[in-house]
Amino acid sequence: MFSKGHKFFVLKKRWVAVILLALLIVFGCVICTSAIKTSIQPKPTRCIVIDAGHGGIDGGAIGETTDVTEAYLNLQFALKLKKLCEEYGFKVVLTRKDMKGLYSLFAKNKKKSEMQKRKEIIEKSAADLVVSIHMNSFGLSTARGAQVYYAPESESGKKLATSVQVALHDEIEYAKLTPKEEEFYLLLCSSAPSILVECGFLSNPEEEQLLSSQDYQTKFCYALLYGILKYFAIN
Ligand SMILES: [Zn+2]
Repeated sequence: MFSKGHKFFVLKKRWVAVILLALLIVFGCVICTSAIKTSIQPKPTRCIVIDAGHGGIDGGAIGETTDVTEAYLNLQFALKLKKLCEEYGFKVVLTRKDMKGLYSLFAKNKKKSEMQKRKEIIEKSAADLVVSIHMNSFGLSTARGAQVYYAPESESGKKLATSVQVALHDEIEYAKLTPKEEEFYLLLCSSAPSILVECGFLSNPEEEQLLSSQDYQTKFCYALLYGILKYFAIN
């Protein structure tokens, strides 16, 4: 048989347990809610600068069997890649939006003026990365395959270049497996991780045809996007 005092003590203990449990639930909920809130914080929008090489009086390389210019194809690729990147939530800045050159009409040295403009656009955009699009050409028509370049001694450039080169190699026939170092102005003009993609050879008739095809351009740009996404996922 229990005494009244003992019963009161047991009841008191129960109340303490109930209050403690309630406090645990409340604090647990607060912690959970703040954890969920933290996990759904939107990531800051990443900015990608897509640079279509050449333009204006500088058409770049010319097709082996047609008069298609590199400047025109660079822009087609840049516009397609822009659309895909925007669909994936990136902010995209194009250096060149049409076939006009980026140089000042009054500049004596148009090439220098044009490159300066590209640099200004990259700096102003505070780019998270830069992708410059070009088409290759070579004396031997058998040369073919996409090649990605990065600036020597740029660790972030090398990581980005490797990610994109591997993605291209996986998806695009003849694309090289390993990126190369090169001191291109565009790769050196800012601190943003930067790559220059030579999408293929206009001097190779088969590749010229592929590079001019809408389907191939889309497939190629998806591979570029995949490489960019992989780079951002790891870094
Ligand atoms: Zn070029």
